[in-house]
This record gives sequence, structure tokens and C-alpha cells, in this order.
Amino acid sequence: MKVHYIYHSCFAVETVDTLLIFDYSQDSADGRLERLMESCWYKQRYFIVSHFHEDHFSPDIMKYMGARKLISYDTSKRRRIKPYQVTAVLRPGDTYEDEHLKMMAIRSTDVGISSLVWLPDGTTLYHAGDNNNWYFAETPEEHIRCSVDEMEGLFRSTLREIKMLTPCVDHVMFPIDPRLGSEMMRGACQWLQLIHTRHFYPMHCWDRWDEVGEGVEQLKELFPQTTFHLGNQSDTL
Ligand SMILES: [Zn+2]
Repeated sequence: MKVHYIYHSCFAVETVDTLLIFDYSQDSADGRLERLMESCWYKQRYFIVSHFHEDHFSPDIMKYMGARKLISYDTSKRRRIKPYQVTAVLRPGDTYEDEHLKMMAIRSTDVGISSLVWLPDGTTLYHAGDNNNWYFAETPEEHIRCSVDEMEGLFRSTLREIKMLTPCVDHVMFPIDPRLGSEMMRGACQWLQLIHTRHFYPMHCWDRWDEVGEGVEQLKELFPQTTFHLGNQSDTL
């Protein structure tokens, strides 16, 4: 299995017979996804969409007719996508299953869903979408909908929900967002403390890889059992 970083929060997870594309908003400057789509033409392709925001969704996915599309309920509503245009529309708690994968839609502290995926060989994947501890301690005015303490509680409850479903996740794609300042790694740390993670892939980094790289160095010391993969260092992780 290979995990290819594409752009922002978009990853393409390639298995023997599938290509799972999470949160496609745009291709990398060197056309990484387009090349993968060509080389994996014979594999079943999936587009999994966590929510409708522009940095997580592009209507361009609709042009790939053969690809299965698993989209969140808010994407369907806000982007006016009809249920017949996609394979499944998912709300938190919903499950989708076919011959290649099982996916459960998990709550998010922002809009839409996050995605927990089981592959037939037992491999587990988690793509957070915008599920994170958005703890804007230095700029609390960012907390329009809830206080920092409420955010902390909401995020921790999503972690407990995931932990009940699986105590260990093999591949975790999760936000490390420099806009959070000194709290940039709060959510990632809380995730790693609670859920055993084999491979961790930062996302939602706004190309601020220097700051994210420094943070990841600290995580490496705290969580030596986890392998960390930075999207700016390799296209195939
Ligand atoms: Zn986002």
C-alpha cells in the first residue's frame, strides 16, 4: 500500500486494486493525481469528501464517471449534488460498505464528517477532514460557535468515539495547522496519546512546512512508535 500526498488535505491511498482519494480540492503543481489516475486506470477509484469547504472539495471529481463518490451530507446540500450523482451521502454514524472497503462517517468538530476506513486485509485508515482541536488560544475571536473549552470537550469526545471503534489506526491523516500558533499540535498530541498510530501524515498545513516540520520533530520524540511523513519531503510516502 502507498500513501501519496497530493495537496493541502488531499491524499491518494493506493492499494492493489483501489485508489482512495480523500478531500480532493486541487492537484499538486506537478500533476501527481492526474498521473496516478492514469497509472491506476484499472483500479476502482473512490473520492471521499469530508465537507463542502473549498479546500476539501472540488466539483471536478464529478467528471470521473467510473469513480465511486462517498460524500458528506453538507457537501451534497451546499454544493447541490443530487444523491443519484454519487455512491453514498453520509452523516456522522453512517456506514458504507462494498467489496473493497468499509467506511464509517465520524463526527467532526467543524462541518461534515471525518472518515474511518477498514480495508479487507485489516488495514485501518483515518482521514480527519476538519476534525481537530481548533483551540485558538491566542485568537479566541476565531471561536464563533463555541468557547475554547467547549472545543476541547467536543474534540475529545470524537477521539473517544474512534477509540471505541478501534484502539489502533495504521494510517492517520490529520491537521497540523500553523494558524493555531502555539496550540498547533494540541489536537495531534491528544490523538497520539489516545489512539495507537503506526503512520501519521500532517495535513491542512497551508504550505508552512518549516513550522510543521519543527512541530513534527517534537512529536517524533514524544511518540517514537509512530512514523511521521511530511508531504513536502516525498510524493510517495
Ligand atoms: Zn479545511
